[in-house]
Amino acid sequence: MDKYNRVVLKLSGEALAGSQGYGIDPDVIQSIASQIKEIVNLDVEVAVVVGGGNIWRGMAGSAKGMDRATADYMGMLATVMNALALQDSLEHNEVETRVQTSIEMRQVAEPYIRRKAIRHLEKKRVVIFAAGTGNPYFSTDTTAALRAAEIEAEVILMAKNKVDGVYDADPSVNTNAKKYQELTYLDLLNGGLGVMDSTASTLCMDNNIPLLVFSITEEGNIKKAVLGEDIGTVVRGKN
Ligand code: UDP
Repeated sequence: MDKYNRVVLKLSGEALAGSQGYGIDPDVIQSIASQIKEIVNLDVEVAVVVGGGNIWRGMAGSAKGMDRATADYMGMLATVMNALALQDSLEHNEVETRVQTSIEMRQVAEPYIRRKAIRHLEKKRVVIFAAGTGNPYFSTDTTAALRAAEIEAEVILMAKNKVDGVYDADPSVNTNAKKYQELTYLDLLNGGLGVMDSTASTLCMDNNIPLLVFSITEEGNIKKAVLGEDIGTVVRGKN
């Protein structure tokens, strides 16, 4: 394989929080921005879907008695804060970017328009998709699957900051946990492997979008991922 030409990079909120586990760590975001710059320089078209779990998670709010939809809208707003932080960092690294939000906020960013997003990508601008799908009860993993299908990305690169792939048990608890090289979405679903939620998994499976789960804490890994190097676990629709 030469390299991927168009990718969706899924950054969870946690990945932006670094070791503190919440909020936004400027050093971590700078490291991610320079890693993204590396692949833009390889002429890869990069769309980023950002999560919001470092600031707010809808499920956590609803577990404490909040209305679930309201809590989810708060989660989607949290992703916009992360998107702006990443945009700022990328532009400090002289990478051209556009943020598109699924909930309109015209003073802050463009609304999500599929054809416009594709045009930005063709011009080698990094497009950051914020505010999830715009709907409560969904996740930013599902957003990554949906946007990848819409913009015809070749792969979803799922950057994790605690693990470097998919394991049969939690490697931070079980020292005998085994890392998978390759899996199918059916394996994920049947095995209850907590890589992404089932809505996201089925969307990827039905549209045959491969997923690469890898660690972002190692500098240079995003580049290795787009070059198809063996750095994590690949999940595919079909074998
Ligand atoms: N969210 C939502 N709809 C979406 C995407 C996200 O309601 O389409 C909300 C949901 O409450 C979620 C929060 O936004 O908990 C943050 O997103 P997510 O948990 O996916 O972020 P991550 O785990 O990647 O940091």
